[in-house]
Parts: sequence; C-alpha cells; structure tokens
Amino acid sequence: MKAIREETEIADRGGTTSRRWYVNQSALEARGLKMWAAKKGVNFISIVPPQDPTRYFGQRIHVHYNIGAAQDAFLCPLEMKRIPCPICEERKRLQQDSEADQNLISSLRPTIRYLFFIVDMKDRSTAEEGVQLFDCPFTVQQGIIKLSTDSRTGEVTDISDPAAGKTVVFERTGMGQKDTRYLGFKIEEREPLKDDVLSKPVEFGEVLDFADEEEISKAFQGESTSKKESLGHEIARELGLDGEETKPLPSQPPRGGDDIGKVDKPVSTKEEQPEPSSNPTGVDKLEEARRRIRERMGKKS
Ligand SMILES: [Zn+2]
Repeated sequence: MKAIREETEIADRGGTTSRRWYVNQSALEARGLKMWAAKKGVNFISIVPPQDPTRYFGQRIHVHYNIGAAQDAFLCPLEMKRIPCPICEERKRLQQDSEADQNLISSLRPTIRYLFFIVDMKDRSTAEEGVQLFDCPFTVQQGIIKLSTDSRTGEVTDISDPAAGKTVVFERTGMGQKDTRYLGFKIEEREPLKDDVLSKPVEFGEVLDFADEEEISKAFQGESTSKKESLGHEIARELGLDGEETKPLPSQPPRGGDDIGKVDKPVSTKEEQPEPSSNPTGVDKLEEARRRIRERMGKKS
C-alpha cells in the first residue's frame, strides 16, 4: 500500500520524485497530524507538553539543507545521534585546508531549528484542527525561552503546562527568505488544554526521518535521482521554512559571491551557538519548573 501511495503521489506531482526531507510526512499523517506554519501577522499557539514530563517540550534539530543536486535536507547524524556524518566530515576536512572556500565550509554547517507540537489558538476553528507540528527557526525558540522567564524575578514557568500554561503570541512579518522576522513574543492566559489534545502528542522521533550515512553520502555526491521542482521544496515554501534562518545554502557557492557570506549567521553555526542541552538558563530550568509546577498541583508526572 505504501508503494502504491508513493507512486500515486509522484504521479500527482507530474512524475517528479520527491526531495528528501527530514519530517516523515506519512508518519505524521498516520497519526492524524499536519504541519503548521506561522501566518503573516499575529499568531497564537499553545504548546502541547511532552508525554514524558521530564523532557523539554520542544525538540532541537540540526539540519543540513540543499545537499546535492536534488537539494535534499537531512538531519545531521553527528549532532542528532553522535554517529558519523559525511557532510560534517567533509566540512572538518575542508577546515584543515587553508585553500578551502570559506563559503563552502559555512554552507556545510547544520542549521539549528526547533520542533513543537502546538494547537493554533487563533480562533475556534483553528483550535479544532487539533495538534500540529511547528518546525521553526531558532529565533522562535529564543522568544519562547524568554517568555518562560520572568524578567524581574528570573523565575521560570512552564508555558506548556496542561492547566497553568499560557498561549504564546507572536508576530510574523514577511514570508520570504530575507524578510521573515518573528517578533513581539508575549503570553496570554488560556483555558486548560483538553484531553484530546493531551492524549495526542507523539515522540518527536516518530515523525523524524533519519537518513543513513550511505544515503547522505550518495546525495552529497550528487547521486540522488530527484530532479527539478520537488515535494520537499514545496513543503519548505508552504511552511515558510524558506524563512530567514533557513535560507537555502548553495552546495557549490560561487567563489567570492558577496551574498553568500550572509548565510553564515550565528544561528546556523553550531560553533557559536550555545547547546540548549548545556544551557542552564533555558531548557534545564524549564524542565525543573515543569516538575515543580506538577508537584505543586499534585499531578502525577
Ligand atoms: Zn552533519
């Protein structure tokens, strides 16, 4: 059945094979979930807490974009699973080479993004859409972390808490690669999350598509069979993933290109980016806060 569906999808797209993408669309569909993207203007989202209350409610991901001729996107095996990544290995090799093109090196760095399971709280009809997966740039994660910390007291609250949590409000300006911004993060009171929402979230790992080393190597060396306009590209555009932080990185940037340097933003460079797992001001405090709130409210964790 899966093979039939895949061929049907390819036929629907006019015969083009899909570009490799890191969210497993069929796994999402099988769980009755869809991708969600921020609309231009003001957005209202409630973050759904994870099944495991000791975990952070978001999932950090590291993505290599625009790999090979098909411009595939892969989760970095090194950053995600501590197993060898052919792209990172090539980047490290080039870093040892004083002649190497710096633009090429930066284009091989994985981009940090975050995933959240959310409910769109804009109005009743969007809320009825239920749980959706929000794939967002690091700036959104920063906004959410900031909202979770009281600037006066430093106290951290868990905005995903089923009962005491809040709705996150933010504005998206622009829809393109260069003009997209996420601003004005604030919180609003909300009603407790409903049982059908709380019973829905799955493990992030279930909807992520990890390619193996061999597949990444092949794509990286341009052996992918994908061609032309592809599903991955359409998904990216539709979801607004072509926003500021996901500006596609050319796999073969022209030497001396004056625009290419701009892709080398701190946000997309792991060397300059604090790892949330070792960031005591963010995630750890949130997890601690979640436990505290649950204890206070007498919930089982
Ligand atoms: Zn990598």
